[in-house]
Amino acid sequence: MFIRHHSCFPVPIPRLTLSHRLANLLLTPAVQTINFRFGHVHVFPSHFRAVAAAVRAGTLSVAFDPVRLATEGSLAEYDSGNDTFSFQSDMVMETAGGRATAVHEASHACADFRNRDTAIRHEEGAAHICEAWYLLNCGIDPTTAHLPANVIKAATDMRDRALPSVPVRATGTEINTVRRDMANLKYENAFYDNDGI
Ligand SMILES: [Zn+2]
Repeated sequence: MFIRHHSCFPVPIPRLTLSHRLANLLLTPAVQTINFRFGHVHVFPSHFRAVAAAVRAGTLSVAFDPVRLATEGSLAEYDSGNDTFSFQSDMVMETAGGRATAVHEASHACADFRNRDTAIRHEEGAAHICEAWYLLNCGIDPTTAHLPANVIKAATDMRDRALPSVPVRATGTEINTVRRDMANLKYENAFYDNDGI
């Protein structure tokens, strides 16, 4: 039998652009099953799909800002003012922890897409829950990401209550304890301006 070898040496697979990888991430089941209301902050699969579509269309920009983000100690950031995701490096999307950070930032883009101002501790609480929920979906212990205890408890319990297609409602206790975590992380008791994308 004749076996034809197409290639005798390894060929590097071209990497997708960062914006493609971000858009693809938001369409994976590990993100598309994150579905909840955290008071007035809602994070639905349809919002992540809208953000993915905006990234693909270029309505939302994806940029590298290594020096500033390294100085601030952030892997990634979303700026609702100029509708731009910034990443510290091309490698952020290569680890589950980095992708969890991207999902956190994408939830801020979801709030911007919804075009309404939010209480900072609510929006950050929801973003941290997204991060923990994503890691749980990947089978990774969220304590490895140094997330606060109440965030992990709320994400674990909300994920356990999740039903297909129905957003889970955070309880009053979950909102209050996670807001306390956000206060401990020095997030202000103020509002984020989300002006649409
Ligand atoms: Zn955040």
